[in-house]
Amino acid sequence: MGLTFILSCGQAEEPARKDSRLKVIATTFPLYDFAREIGGDKVAVTMLLPPASDAHHYELKPNDIVRVSKADIFLFTSFEMEQWAYKIINVASEKTNMLAVETGQGAALLPLPLSQDRDSGPSSLQHENDPDHTSRFDPHIWLDFANAQKMIDNIATAFINRDPQNSEIYLQNAGDYKRKLTELDIRYRGALSNCKTRTILHAGHWAFAYLANRYQLHYRSAYNMSADAEPSPQQMVDLIEQVKAQKLAYIYYEDLFAPKLARTIASETGAGLLKLSNGHDISKKDLQEGVSFIMLMEKNLVNLKKGMQCP
Ligand SMILES: [Zn+2]
Repeated sequence: MGLTFILSCGQAEEPARKDSRLKVIATTFPLYDFAREIGGDKVAVTMLLPPASDAHHYELKPNDIVRVSKADIFLFTSFEMEQWAYKIINVASEKTNMLAVETGQGAALLPLPLSQDRDSGPSSLQHENDPDHTSRFDPHIWLDFANAQKMIDNIATAFINRDPQNSEIYLQNAGDYKRKLTELDIRYRGALSNCKTRTILHAGHWAFAYLANRYQLHYRSAYNMSADAEPSPQQMVDLIEQVKAQKLAYIYYEDLFAPKLARTIASETGAGLLKLSNGHDISKKDLQEGVSFIMLMEKNLVNLKKGMQCP
C-alpha cells in the first residue's frame, strides 16, 4: 500500500496526456528562434548547442546523437556552418525517421575571402568527414534578411511535411515573421544609407559579410572563421593603422570571444567599442532573458548607426 503510494507520487509530475507537439531540435540560436516563431505552441523546440559554444568547431557529445534521434525534425544551417552535421545525421537517421533539414538551402551565398594565412584562413575550412570538400562559402547566411526568409520557408515546409494538420498555422506564422524581417530590412536600408563612414571594423571572427554586402558597407574582421588563432603582430598593426587612417570613431566586438583584442585596438587608437551580435553566439544570460533574433538585430542597428555615425 505504502509502496504504491510512493510510486504514484513519484509519477505525479509526468504529463497526463502525451505531448502531441512536434519535437524539433535546432543547432544554433537563429534556427532555434525561427522554429519557435513558426511553430508557436505546436512545436517543442530545443537548441542543441549550449549557449556560449563555438558553433564552427563544436565537438559532438555522445548524448547529442541521442537527443537528435529523439526529435521529429533536426534543423541545421548548412554543411558550411555545421560541418559536424554529417555525422549526426548519418547516425540518427539510421535509427529513426527523423527529418534532417538544411535550412540554408537556396540561400544566396557569399564566398569566403581568400586568406592571407592559408593554413588557418577561412578559405581552408574543411568538412570534418569529407576532407576533400573544402568549403568556400561564408556560413553566416541569416545576417542577410532575404536569406533568413528563405530559411523560414524551409523550416515551415519541414513542419508541414511532418505535421500537415497544422499547415495553415505554420504558413500564417511564417508569413507574419517574414513580414517582420522585411520591415527590419527596410529600416536597416534607410538607417544605413547615409553614414559618415561605411566601414565595420570587427575585432571578432569573420561573420558580418552578408550584412555588409546587403547594405553596401565595407567589412574587415580581425579573425577568420573562429577566434581561436590570434592575429599576427603584423595583422594587429594593420588593423590599428586602418582605424587611424579611416578615423573610425568606433570598432565592434563580439562578447563571447576575444573582447581583449578589441580593447587593445581601442586603447591604441582611441576608438570606442560597440557590440555586434552575429546571431549564433548567444550568451546564457540572453537566452534566459528570452532575447529574440529580431531583438539582437535591432540592437545591432542601434550600434551600427552610432558607430558609423549615421543621421
Ligand atoms: Zn560564426
